[in-house]
Amino acid sequence: MDYAKYLSAALDAVRREGRYRVFADLKRTRGAFPEARHFADGDTRDITVWCSNDYLGMGQNPKVTAAMHEAIDLVGAGSGGTRNISGTSHYHVELEAELADLHGKEGALLFTSAYVANDATLATLVKLLPGCVVVSDEKNHASMIEGIRHGGGPKQIFRHNDVADLEEKLKALPLGTPKIIAFESVYSMDGHIAPISAICDLADKYGAMTYLDEVHAVGLYGPRGGGIAERDGVMHRIDVINGTLAKGFGVMGGYIAGSRVLCDAIRSYAAGFIFTTSLAPAIAAGALASIRHLKSSSVERERHQERAKTLKARLIDAGLPVIEGSSHIVPVTVGDPVHCKRLTDTLLTHYGIYAQPINYPTVPKGTERIRLTPSPQHTDAQMDRLVTALTELWAACPVSVGHFGRLAAE
Ligand code: PLP
Repeated sequence: MDYAKYLSAALDAVRREGRYRVFADLKRTRGAFPEARHFADGDTRDITVWCSNDYLGMGQNPKVTAAMHEAIDLVGAGSGGTRNISGTSHYHVELEAELADLHGKEGALLFTSAYVANDATLATLVKLLPGCVVVSDEKNHASMIEGIRHGGGPKQIFRHNDVADLEEKLKALPLGTPKIIAFESVYSMDGHIAPISAICDLADKYGAMTYLDEVHAVGLYGPRGGGIAERDGVMHRIDVINGTLAKGFGVMGGYIAGSRVLCDAIRSYAAGFIFTTSLAPAIAAGALASIRHLKSSSVERERHQERAKTLKARLIDAGLPVIEGSSHIVPVTVGDPVHCKRLTDTLLTHYGIYAQPINYPTVPKGTERIRLTPSPQHTDAQMDRLVTALTELWAACPVSVGHFGRLAAE
């Protein structure tokens, strides 16, 4: 059997569609984010990153890096096992207490990523709640979709952020049927924000649990960085909050926060929690320092919002097709995978600007885009260079692939 033939054919299909992914080989420069060194074709050069999800630059915060160094010096590199078998360190215990406090919940549970947290928690809830139906926003992240699928129960999909459609779906289910409304607060590819309060009203009316992914909001919104639910004063109405330690908090790992019994049940049943080595203590220590800092400092959040608003306004003024939204994410529509890739290649090679093309399956085909994520550290000068580069590229050739090819070769 020629196994490689099938794998090569699958790769060729992706290449033909123009969405074969190429990693950017980078070394970020601590103290100078968003500047980084780019390695390509045996050469290296300085570039500016415009698509990092280290939204606040906490990955270079001195309190965070000091906490990580200190933990390594005190307890070494790895955790030594799963949480049940020697892998629970005092850092994990402190971090879970900090997260429970951040979200005003009785408990929190750590996972190695928010992807695993979504997958493991949703699958386990569906299995533990007899006959449970998940009612899920159509734009939910792949990790929630996988979790719902692994649960093996029935599901209903409601139109994105459409409260009327959600109500239709809930109304059609018997009142006594266990239901989970699964949704996100900030949808990361469009920058839309969910009507959390209205969704909670429906959850109350129809007796549903609420499961909210705040991955693109924790650290970034709310007076203490608790997310959009905290900002909107509705955190207490959410049954399960899912978050990441990798984006706003700048480190790595994921978690859920909820009632004591809920965290205990997931801890006791979820394979994605039980059968994997816990986060390295240094990672937990860094995340702990980051959360503590952002609970009391709003400087980063305020500057972050200002940078995002300024960039959006400047791109709109320049006539570029920015997808409207009130979050910190700045998507610019391209609408074709080949064009999108050429455009971002040209940005990198010609202008020293790194923005990853966003293609299918991350977004639907025909809606390919550049997704810009300005951080508090992006300067006016860096923004000038980005706006000039994009304006030049769009003016030179709004749709023609060929021209970008020529520019790149210049
Ligand atoms: N949820 C959403 C909405 C995401 O966009 C992502 C992407 O990274 C995740 C969950 C997974 O988070 P993590 O990177 O911590 O696995």
